[in-house]
Amino acid sequence: MKNLKNRETKLWIVLSLLVLIAWGITVEILYDSQKSREETLLETELELFEGEINSTLITYEEFSNYIFDRIKDDEEIISIIHKANTASNGEKRLLRDRLYSKLSENYSLMKKYKFRQLHFHLPNTESFLRVHLPERYGDILLENRESVRLVSENKTRISGFEEGKIFNGFRNVYPLEYENEYIGSVEISMSSASIIEILSRLYEKSDFYFIIDKNVVEENLFEDQMSNYRESDLFEDYYVDIEVDEITSKNNLIQGDLEVNLFENIKAQYGEEIKNKQGFSAISKIEGEYYKVRFLSIENFKKTPSAYIISISKSNEDIPFINNMYKEIILVTLLALSIIVFGFIVSDYHYRLRNNAELDSLTEIYNRNKFYDIASREINRAKRFKEDMSIIVMDIDYFKKINDKYGHDWGDEVLKKLTSEISKNIREIDIFARWGGEEFVLLLPNTSKEKGVLVGEKIRELIEISNSKELKDITISVGVSEIDSENYDIKAAINLADQAMYEAKRKGRNQVCSK
Ligand code: GH3
Ligand code: MG
Ligand code: MG
Repeated sequence: MKNLKNRETKLWIVLSLLVLIAWGITVEILYDSQKSREETLLETELELFEGEINSTLITYEEFSNYIFDRIKDDEEIISIIHKANTASNGEKRLLRDRLYSKLSENYSLMKKYKFRQLHFHLPNTESFLRVHLPERYGDILLENRESVRLVSENKTRISGFEEGKIFNGFRNVYPLEYENEYIGSVEISMSSASIIEILSRLYEKSDFYFIIDKNVVEENLFEDQMSNYRESDLFEDYYVDIEVDEITSKNNLIQGDLEVNLFENIKAQYGEEIKNKQGFSAISKIEGEYYKVRFLSIENFKKTPSAYIISISKSNEDIPFINNMYKEIILVTLLALSIIVFGFIVSDYHYRLRNNAELDSLTEIYNRNKFYDIASREINRAKRFKEDMSIIVMDIDYFKKINDKYGHDWGDEVLKKLTSEISKNIREIDIFARWGGEEFVLLLPNTSKEKGVLVGEKIRELIEISNSKELKDITISVGVSEIDSENYDIKAAINLADQAMYEAKRKGRNQVCSK
């Protein structure tokens, strides 16, 4: 009977395992596709951000090209630089003063449009005149200023980000010529602060930040200019340019505690990522809101990552698919659980159906039909191997009296206890069934009549001496017969055993007879 139940249980366990595997695979696929959707979104965000910044930089590059054209076509300026190429220090001072007074007014105008540096260099990369800081000159830029070195070497213009001795910024350095001869270069630059200010104006919904690698600053800056920087609140290896800081704290929408918490989040999530010095974008959740965080890595002329422009903006529309994934996973989980529960119900139902068809509902041993079913299989086997087989028929003595005395329900309890006791004391291969009423049949494969009688006696004694409350007054009469080895007729054998059982009744009950 246990085996019967096991068959359904095993099927159900296999089904549940398959469902769990399918569930696992589906969740993994959902998770992967969510990840790839997220990656695509983030990559697109980063590309958009790069586009925003590049278009701003290119516009300003064009503007600075225009200024350069004005300079290179100005005969007086070109002639001053040409003369400075071979001038003594004293003569240089006069030339520098002349150039400064000619340009200082123009420079004021340039400043209005966010340009911050106008710097002339001689062919040996010596600083000839910083219009933005005229008292500093004469230093050789060869080692610190890759842009100036490259222009003096290749005589072609160059543009990009660079940390200088005073400013960091986006520089355009142009070669200057006098009658086709290289006479030095001029740099027209914007500070990073200017770029950030323009970005804030263009993209009002985003907050911008600019952080610069400490090593880059410390390698290049005049020491007395360090006060232009402070430590970054975001990452310990970075500085913030004070001028940029003023602009960002004036323009940014995210302020105060929110900014502090957001920075803490970003630091915890991307503190490691930032060490790769690559650009990336991410989504950070704080106080129930999603924020798009984009880091654009800024390289200098040596292709060394030197700084990051960061944009942070609150995101309202782009993120709902994150929640969708959880909804999908919950749905798939519910579906899997439903299949498992449904499978259990079906397997249990099937078990009960089969039980009804094959088992006696009261005693849960085989019914008469199932007995014939199994017995005929056993008999075929016995025929093949020429095995002996015995049949035992047993009937409770005076069972009517038990019913009359204690009631029908108690009679049922007696039947259940009796069958369970007998079931426990027979072999796995023996086939035990309820023949009807309080009469039972037992098929003993590979058992001679003599051995069958011993088994019958054992069972009879077992019931007689049982002290259980159900069986203490119960005895049984037992009939034993052998299935004849000629034609293996089971019905005939049962008849014989039945006759033997009646003989036992006649002889006074509670005994074993055989035929
Ligand atoms: P004997 O020793 O000659 O076998 O006497 P007996 O009283 O056992 O024989 P009899 O055939 O006269 O009575 C059998 C009784 O078994 C009658 C019936 O009420 C009872 N019986 C049959 N099936 C069930 C059952 O499922 N539950 C209960 N409680 N009683 C049953
Ligand atoms: Mg009886
Ligand atoms: Mg009877």
